[in-house]
Amino acid sequence: MSYFKIDSLEQYFKHYNKSIREPRKFWGKIAEENFTWYQYWDKVVDFNMADAEVKWFVDAKVNITKNCIDRHLAKKGDKTAIIFEPNDPSEQALHISYNELYERVSKMANVLREQGINKGDRVCIYLPMIPELAVAVLACARIGAIHSVVFAGFSASAVASRINDSQCKMVITSDGGYRGNKTIDLKGIVDEALQNCPSVTSVLVAKRTNAEIQMKAGRDQWLAPLLDNALNNSVAEIMDAEDPLFILYTSGSTGKPKGMVHTTAGYMVYTAYTFKNVFNYEENDIFWCTADIGWITGHSYILYGPLLNGATTVIYEGIPSYPDFSRFWETIEKHKVTQFYTAPTAIRALAKENLSYVQRFPLKSLKVIGSVGEPINEEAWHWYNDHVGGKRCPVVDTWWQTETGGIMIAPLAFTTPTKPTYATLPLPGIQPVLMDDKRNEIEGNQVVGSLCIKFPWPGIARTIWGDHQRYKDTYFSTFPGKYFTGDGALRDEVGYYRITGRVDDVVIVSGHNLGTAPIEDAINEHPAVAESAIVGFPHDIKGNALYGYVILKESGEYRDRDNLSKEINQHIADHIGPIAKLDKIQYVTGLPKTRSGKIMRRILRKIAEGDYSNFGDITTLLNPEIVEEIVKGRIV
Ligand code: ATP
Ligand code: MG
Repeated sequence: MSYFKIDSLEQYFKHYNKSIREPRKFWGKIAEENFTWYQYWDKVVDFNMADAEVKWFVDAKVNITKNCIDRHLAKKGDKTAIIFEPNDPSEQALHISYNELYERVSKMANVLREQGINKGDRVCIYLPMIPELAVAVLACARIGAIHSVVFAGFSASAVASRINDSQCKMVITSDGGYRGNKTIDLKGIVDEALQNCPSVTSVLVAKRTNAEIQMKAGRDQWLAPLLDNALNNSVAEIMDAEDPLFILYTSGSTGKPKGMVHTTAGYMVYTAYTFKNVFNYEENDIFWCTADIGWITGHSYILYGPLLNGATTVIYEGIPSYPDFSRFWETIEKHKVTQFYTAPTAIRALAKENLSYVQRFPLKSLKVIGSVGEPINEEAWHWYNDHVGGKRCPVVDTWWQTETGGIMIAPLAFTTPTKPTYATLPLPGIQPVLMDDKRNEIEGNQVVGSLCIKFPWPGIARTIWGDHQRYKDTYFSTFPGKYFTGDGALRDEVGYYRITGRVDDVVIVSGHNLGTAPIEDAINEHPAVAESAIVGFPHDIKGNALYGYVILKESGEYRDRDNLSKEINQHIADHIGPIAKLDKIQYVTGLPKTRSGKIMRRILRKIAEGDYSNFGDITTLLNPEIVEEIVKGRIV
């Protein structure tokens, strides 16, 4: 019996039970049958959760790029591995075959070696979403260098702090990047960052925009001539299963970003397995994940997961609104995309626009549509299901984190019946538990609590770079012996999970614990509301009360704000209960978001409390100007 692919709900339960009863057999068999290894493991898993120590496939030897590329060459060397869709739709899309990917990655790997990069060295990759980004990531993995991809929208100080945190030796960047009708001076940002980064000795520069840039002698080199002179084949470094593969910083929604370290074998097995099952991947599918490779979603489901399965994966350089709001739908049509994976923030933004943008396209190629990053509110879920999925495509609402490496709780397409706003059931191998405030496990269904995972899975991050103590404190101390996710969840009558938001965002109003997601969900269903965010603030009688920030769809229509506020509260009372009514409602034109598109509720909380002194680490904040606007309009 093979465990790699699940084909029915019955089989899901069978595999799930096996994975819990005999996790070593379950993962051992998957690892053995679906990957190539230089050497097998002595032990499938070795762990001590209390000490935050986890190892998978102990002493095995492997290289992830052999599994992403080399092993596909014999049978599907000519198959397209990567479709590159440029920012400007009139520029031709590129199709990169597995053979070409092998050559490009080999050349880049050889260049890195010639430039003195060795196994274990850290390389910062600060590139736009162009093929060189994928190639650079894979080339690092090929030679055992640890990649640290920094999203190419970050400022010089954010780049510098990430480089310094992990002491990168090299930066790979480009002369610039295109995003919609803007060009971004990436090289200029790197130059500024490197004024404060003594560890970096060399910078390789890809050409994209042909912008005029400064090249610092002795440090900076153009990539193209180096690649031209490099051999187009390469030997992969033999890596230990637990050698670090990459460092990636979290979104910084709740505080200072954490440099999560993922290792080789476990991450490989877990991303390949989850990709295959959640998206029901089949051989000729065209998979498109719209995340940036600078986030974990891009690492796991633009690059590693799809390539490990020999899939065709789309890399899109631009933004959803360029040249207009139909770009996603047009691109799905153009490349006949079968699985489409995006974030609620993008769905909400596109749902605000005229329906004709999406209705112009039949989107018949689509089979599965997915969501990740934040709770997807019910209205957005239906819009996505109705207008993008045409009610035929399962919506897979995938809950996971930078720390988890891959998807943890999600419907398996065509297997798990979906339910709006529910991430539904855990993947095999994942043992979620809900904990109460007294640190006891809450049994049974129709309960809410803090979401923890009580057994390690192969994709779990092993540490925070340079700070194992913070790793232990953050994830393994609140509920000793368990991995604490920081999220709250509800388990419904059939055992489906719904993420109710961050535990830190739970507000206790008159003794009732209220998660923010369900309340926002109710508000967003009001026809006038485009998006909202709820936080708590201290209240003399109730302990805490709720403060809502609301973005309206069309400003002119609901002029009578007092009346609208009453309607919104009535809506909440009807959907959740009078306890969740908002004491204050502020109408805003935008919400503070991370660069990965998530609402930064911690800033909103400070504003609601009237404390503007210290917003904490805001290096990942996308739109600082909105903070000022919100502060000015604060309801006292
Ligand atoms: P930081 O840890 O620095 O505060 P972050 O948690 O936003 O940032 P990520 O690892 O990118 O960084 O995001 C993971 C979080 O995103 C989860 O803990 C959860 O709160 C939220 N999330 C992701 N997917 C979903 C989903 N499908 N439903 C609900 N929430 C989700
Ligand atoms: Mg987090």
